[in-house]
Amino acid sequence: MLPKADCSIINTQMNKIVGHNTKLDYLDRLIKGDETSHAYCFFGPSRIGKTTVGIAFSKAILCCGDKDGLNPCNECQNCRLFDASNLPDFYLNDTGEAIGVEEIRELVHFLELKPYQSKIKVALISHAERMSVQAANAFLKSLEEPPINTLIILTTDNLDNLLPTIISRTQLIKFGALTDQEVYDYLSDTFELEKEKADQISQYCNGKLGLAIAMVEDENLFSSSKDFFADFISALDNDSYVAKIQAGEKFSQNSDLAEKYFDTLESNLHRQLYRLDNNAEGLKIVGLLDKIAKSREYLLKNVNPRLVWESILFTKGSNDKSYRC
Ligand SMILES: [Zn+2]
Repeated sequence: MLPKADCSIINTQMNKIVGHNTKLDYLDRLIKGDETSHAYCFFGPSRIGKTTVGIAFSKAILCCGDKDGLNPCNECQNCRLFDASNLPDFYLNDTGEAIGVEEIRELVHFLELKPYQSKIKVALISHAERMSVQAANAFLKSLEEPPINTLIILTTDNLDNLLPTIISRTQLIKFGALTDQEVYDYLSDTFELEKEKADQISQYCNGKLGLAIAMVEDENLFSSSKDFFADFISALDNDSYVAKIQAGEKFSQNSDLAEKYFDTLESNLHRQLYRLDNNAEGLKIVGLLDKIAKSREYLLKNVNPRLVWESILFTKGSNDKSYRC
């Protein structure tokens, strides 16, 4: 049984899409011109709203009322069922858990059946790199020979973690991070925050609205993320083999925080990258970012977390002390 799509993300704190104006204009034109492709892959940094845009795009596609491009009518039966996460022609997987071959086989079956009450069926898989190799291969046929009246949307933070055969069968749409100002404006408009706090979080999150919202909602996350990053840089800069091993052990102990740790690292390293005017140092940071992206995949595949953290801390050239933020 396929999991029920949870569309609450679009109804609650992120009911207003922030940024990505050129992408939204493009998707808007596709719907108005009835020119949508059968499969898209939204790629770009984590927590910038790719899934949110995917959900909004899906809802507009599925709306059977008087819609205006990317703006659904919000009144038709499909819109109401979509908002209640009950539209049977929409499949959403954004659980963050690994996706196995059985679930993909059920999804393929879902796509092969006629739409229940819409003109089209839409499947949105967030973080598509969570598919196992077997699952991705099972999904290939749906991308190669898509059933009529189906639309597939994948999102990923890193195209390198998807099979080339998957990538080549989708239309790629690249998303970039939001500006600090866009994040600041959203936080100020949405939450009762002191100006200074909104300013700090918007700068710290480096355009990742999802991370910014998580930090507003969890008071400890902002301070603990800053502490973690300081500890990480200290271990990275430390020439001692033992110090790196101990830090890897410490970071791996709380598996629930791994994703937030990675988000913190990515956002801070990106921020550092933008400030550099030295290509050699920039390449080292890019190497670390690449290692972090791969580490997310390793953890999904149940690689020992301690080994994953050690692998990052022992990244070649990482003790050149060029990552101080
Ligand atoms: Zn509608």
